[in-house]
Amino acid sequence: MVKINFSKKGDADQDVLIVPVLTGTEKLPGLPDNITNQLKSLLSAEDFQAKAGGTAAQRVAGQKIVFVGLGDREKLTPEQAKTTGAKVWSDLGNVSEKSVGLWGESVKPSILLKLTEGLLLRNYLDSRYKTGEELANAKKKLFSTLTVIADTDAALRREIDELTKITEAVHYVRDLVSAPPIDLKPEDLANEAAKLAQTYQNITCRVLNKKEIEAEGLGLLAAVNRGSAHEPRLIILEINANKKEKPIILVGKGLTFDSGGYNLKPSGGIEMMHIDMAGGATVLGTIKALAMLGSKKKVIGIVPATENLVSGEAYKPSDIIKSYSGKTVEIRNTDAEGRLILADALSYAEKNFSPALMIDLATLTGACRVALGERYAGVFSRHPEITKRLEQASKISGDKIWYLPLDELHSEQLKSKVADIANISEPSRLMGASSGAAFLSFFVKEETPWAHLDIAGPAHQSVEIEAWNPPSGATGYGVALLIDLITNW
Ligand SMILES: [Zn+2]
Repeated sequence: MVKINFSKKGDADQDVLIVPVLTGTEKLPGLPDNITNQLKSLLSAEDFQAKAGGTAAQRVAGQKIVFVGLGDREKLTPEQAKTTGAKVWSDLGNVSEKSVGLWGESVKPSILLKLTEGLLLRNYLDSRYKTGEELANAKKKLFSTLTVIADTDAALRREIDELTKITEAVHYVRDLVSAPPIDLKPEDLANEAAKLAQTYQNITCRVLNKKEIEAEGLGLLAAVNRGSAHEPRLIILEINANKKEKPIILVGKGLTFDSGGYNLKPSGGIEMMHIDMAGGATVLGTIKALAMLGSKKKVIGIVPATENLVSGEAYKPSDIIKSYSGKTVEIRNTDAEGRLILADALSYAEKNFSPALMIDLATLTGACRVALGERYAGVFSRHPEITKRLEQASKISGDKIWYLPLDELHSEQLKSKVADIANISEPSRLMGASSGAAFLSFFVKEETPWAHLDIAGPAHQSVEIEAWNPPSGATGYGVALLIDLITNW
């Protein structure tokens, strides 16, 4: 985790100093004269402009100074500041183990906070799978100490401390989601959960293995797993378990590799399917963040984890499977497996824990990704109060959401002639995201305060959309959203 120092103006002895400049400010209060003079001459030579996105890197008395333009004070939004913080990371050069300073005297606290957030989120490297020079060079770009130079008050210092912890959890989720399926099988995901319980005193972890999953009657999870040589797991991770209140429950899809099963995915559609456990990873990351933040909320994370593969044992289209709830499901398509394991996990959660709030996260449908792209999660809920709270959390965290429909129309389409429900609608393939949500709603009581988040889009970005995420790769979407939702629930 990056170490954060706070320092007052006048102290600018870091190896690299970032100096944000708003339009019309030539003299920044407290900035040493030699740096101010450098800024003045850059501005007058038009080598640097204070408009948003402008940058200039200079050496002043041996120190690297990166001036970064923020544009007009009145027009600058927190999200732009977060983007600027992330973009300036690329201009820092090789800073490995060295200290970075962020000159915060010239901007208001809310902007300073967002600049810091962008910078910290972008300061990430998955160092597990590259070797040699490329790895060594990539590592040099990481900084380990950030000094915020401003007259900060206790509230801002606390907020920056919190975002440092949340960022750590976001990076943890990116690592989990990026891990190749050879290294992250259901048992590995369960081991990660167990490690969290070893690390943080108030986390407890219980894991059901294949035998226990079958004995409990989690028939859908067991069926999806049948084609895999690796056992399924049901991970139950709890924080503040001894509190008497009703828990908040987070359910995350943990498909560690989804081939589609007998409805096999084609080339072009199968390569990224190790990320199909992003919902589960987000649940683990959120509980880790809650522990780091010292949260007193009682939260239970439930992650059904399995692979979906093809073998002589694999479940097949036209199979009829009995779920944990007792309801039967006609399998029309083995690639609609996420909703199956989630259905069991949701009814397991509802029956055993009576949730005060239940949120599930899943890379559930390509349809949602097509509809909303790689920045927005689709939200489905029968409870307007939850959607309202999610909207508030989304605005604060920057994890974007969009409300999509879930009603009788979608449930109607899932009727089966041979079982209680079918796992995809027939004959139409339209409304895929709503159809997936409608299937889940069949397993959750109307009165249970539940919302479903389809994160098939934002869990991963294939090209750079947000500068604070890796240019392409896992984003860690959802941790900040859930932390805000839970904290204010
Ligand atoms: Zn699938």
